[in-house]
Amino acid sequence: MLHPNKAIQTILDHTPTLPSETAALGETIDRVLAEKLKARDDLPPFDNSAMDGYAVKAADLQGADQKNPVRLLVRETVRAGRLSCQEVQAGEAVKIMTGAPLPKGADAVVMKERTISDGDGMVDVLHCPEPGDHIRPKGEDMRAGDPLLSPGTLLRHYEVALLAAQGVTKVKVIRKAQVAILATGDELVPTAGALSPGKIRNSNGPAILAALSKWRISAKDLGIVPDDEKEMEKRLRGALSQADVVLVSGGVSVGDFDYTRALFAKLGVQEVFWKVAIKPGKPLLFGIHSGGSGPGKLVFGLPGNPVSALVCLEEFVRPALEKLCGHVPTRPSYHLQGRALNDYPKPKDRQQYLFCRVSSDRKGFALHILRPQGSARLCMTTQANALAIGPIGVRRIRKGDALAFRWLK
Ligand code: AMP
Ligand code: MG
Repeated sequence: MLHPNKAIQTILDHTPTLPSETAALGETIDRVLAEKLKARDDLPPFDNSAMDGYAVKAADLQGADQKNPVRLLVRETVRAGRLSCQEVQAGEAVKIMTGAPLPKGADAVVMKERTISDGDGMVDVLHCPEPGDHIRPKGEDMRAGDPLLSPGTLLRHYEVALLAAQGVTKVKVIRKAQVAILATGDELVPTAGALSPGKIRNSNGPAILAALSKWRISAKDLGIVPDDEKEMEKRLRGALSQADVVLVSGGVSVGDFDYTRALFAKLGVQEVFWKVAIKPGKPLLFGIHSGGSGPGKLVFGLPGNPVSALVCLEEFVRPALEKLCGHVPTRPSYHLQGRALNDYPKPKDRQQYLFCRVSSDRKGFALHILRPQGSARLCMTTQANALAIGPIGVRRIRKGDALAFRWLK
């Protein structure tokens, strides 16, 4: 069985980055830039005031302080968005608002709080500024023609602000991945369906859809397909024709009616691996479908058991989706450490993902390993706030053992 780290690496090695498309600025958040951009304009486009106050000639205010105010004639008020009419002469000031263009002749701004004005057309300045004080010079942030953003940049709201400031309304970004979700099983009824003997509700479809929506991945839940070879083949073919990634849950193990694997092969999916040394999630299948034009499609056969399906989704599918969308893939990071509050047996040859309730005390993080763990125990997962790693080679987690964990968000 494949080591989970090797499985993630193998998935990433087979995962392309999708081609680019043009998107309106408002649609770019959290997406990855696919072009090199240059600044169109200086930023800021003109010298302007960083404060509400008075634009002055610094030389006029030599020695000015609280006890020795210097009185200046206020020629006009310049507000943001307007230009001043006059040049500041010796002994004069212009009242100025934040963001307003610096009047000619001024070389500093004194903040309002360091002045006294009775509204009589004069101002007493209680401070001697250095030339340049509280002035934001034209082009201080960037100059027209400077490199603006480079391909591969993640567009956060900061980048959106910069692009907006530069008047960029459309940019090339990596296309969004389209995911198709299919739940297999004769026993499944839709969420809204009534239970009858032998039937359970499809929880994988809605849960996978919800996780993908949280990760901003476009997905289509194609619903339930029965364990019927003909019907499954038709539905899998349909899923492969419309998505970049196909997530099939169930039917990927060794049961008599587990057709997923064989049908993938029949439909031209090249199986990259099947089975990973993990618990839950052992029967995870990963393959590539290279029919048609464009990059190969990623195909995952997720175990049907809901806890297994969701662990595999987060641990193995998510990094691939990130790479597909141009992001630097983040593997689930287990950099936090805590100590086990209880013993728990585990298979020695598999890495176990242990659902825990973590609290913090004087000694650090304390991990209560929920009992019993189980690949169909949905209720157990809702009690957990963290997932810890039970390493390969260890047969039993013992009370007091140090465990690496990550928060379950
Ligand atoms: P399978 O992988 O098809 O053998 O299914 C393993 C277990 O997961 C069985 O108990 C199934 O009933 C259950 N299961 C399969 N698919 C789903 C689903 N979509 N939602 C909830 N449980 C499922
Ligand atoms: Mg099944």
